[in-house]
Amino acid sequence: MIDRRSFLVMGLASGVPGVPPLRAPYGEPFTLGVACGDPAPDGFVAWTRLAPVPLAEDGFGGMPPVPVPVYWEVATDPACAKVVRRGTEEAVREWAHAVHVEVGGLEPAREYWYRFKAGPYISPIGRAVTAPAAGAPVKTLTMAVTSCANYQHGHFTAYTRMAQERPDLILHLGDYIYEYGKDEQPCPGGNVREHEGPEAKTLTDYRRRHALYKTDPDLRAAHAAAPWVPIMDDHEVRNNWTGLLEAPRREAAFRAYYEHMPLRRSAMPQGPSIRLYRRLRWGSLATLHLLDTRQYRDRALCGSGFSECPKSEDPGRTITGTEQERWLLEGFRESKARWDIIGQQVFFGRRTKYPPPELVVRQDAWDGYSGSRTRVTRGWVDAGVRNAVVLTGDVHSHWAGDLALDYDDEDSPLVGSELAVTSISSGGDGHDHDRARDALLDTNPHLKFHLRRRGYLLLKVEPTAIAADFKIVRYVSTPGAPALTAAGFTVADKLPGLIRQA
Ligand code: FE
Ligand code: CA
Repeated sequence: MIDRRSFLVMGLASGVPGVPPLRAPYGEPFTLGVACGDPAPDGFVAWTRLAPVPLAEDGFGGMPPVPVPVYWEVATDPACAKVVRRGTEEAVREWAHAVHVEVGGLEPAREYWYRFKAGPYISPIGRAVTAPAAGAPVKTLTMAVTSCANYQHGHFTAYTRMAQERPDLILHLGDYIYEYGKDEQPCPGGNVREHEGPEAKTLTDYRRRHALYKTDPDLRAAHAAAPWVPIMDDHEVRNNWTGLLEAPRREAAFRAYYEHMPLRRSAMPQGPSIRLYRRLRWGSLATLHLLDTRQYRDRALCGSGFSECPKSEDPGRTITGTEQERWLLEGFRESKARWDIIGQQVFFGRRTKYPPPELVVRQDAWDGYSGSRTRVTRGWVDAGVRNAVVLTGDVHSHWAGDLALDYDDEDSPLVGSELAVTSISSGGDGHDHDRARDALLDTNPHLKFHLRRRGYLLLKVEPTAIAADFKIVRYVSTPGAPALTAAGFTVADKLPGLIRQA
């Protein structure tokens, strides 16, 4: 039975003739902006969430407990005048009134614009790009790569600078939110702003935290500027979590993550699990393999920091889990792309504080799962992958390095390159020199570059080469820093190894 009040509210929400749906006092519902993601040759996911009161205590964003129809449209012009696809999706309370529209029927390799309407309210317009047709020749893919945006540590200026590049794709490698309470893990230089409450643990907490982050205009600008391809790392759930973390907390964090990201239904969480590893193809130019190195990894044997830990050298250990590893190696064998790009969370190549055999390596990264690294690396080598490039987040520093099959053998040929992107804001303004990390460049000759500044990575992928610009903003403690290029590298087709440009 529906009581009289709910019936009336539903009537308002679903548009009884003469009664405008979603009218005041709910207020402007598009406070969290719009987003799109996971482009295919025929479409993409368009996302929004209705939340007139983003930080409402109950996590429902100030929405009434009724379904609300949300109209969407996709157009071929930036003003959304020439509409080519439209429809209506129901926003329901069960999913915090988030909407994920899987738009299809579009043309490959072109720009589109989209927006939503609910009642009398119209959302901002977002820009989308469809992927090229399968196997089609492609001249250029421009991709911005990013990770680690701690709201308390700094302004998200780098997100706006990324948006200004007008990339085809924005690849987010995780730590999109941080779960910390407002008094926890402060920025070394002092926090510039505060989280809305204590450490996020429940679904309500995670919903409010995601909503807080999306109230940031720089973040909304980055979402509106280009399709995103997001994967999560640890802080979307809890610092350095593994599959051993209690199921209710994983379930809450995964659900809130899905609700706030432009993900396909295939990524809809099932209780305490979420399928985020997936592939995206950009014509014949690039195949993106997006990994989940958190959910299926074996437990840490020696903590998460740098330590000597012979046990973690056990070749049977895995950071991907068996099923994902099989899927990845299969993907390498099937790939006909010029570039196979592996987007994932934690440092892939070896970084030891002391020269071999006295390995002191970070246990939370692939170094703590070296058997996994060897199998994946050998997997792409044996599959005859033409060019392999690994993209990495998590480290709050820019890094560039070459990848080898065997780091203990000086004659082991180079088999790929790794580009690790710094944080948007985590760690605060940063600095140009860091003795401990600079020392890693000496101990690990395959590592070529390191800089502990905030920023993003801009990749221009072309058939003959990938050009990678390490972009920095010199401060995040105050808004408005310009973006500068701190270093540039290229990787040439069929010639593994980074070439320094600037
Ligand atoms: Fe981080
Ligand atoms: Ca992390």
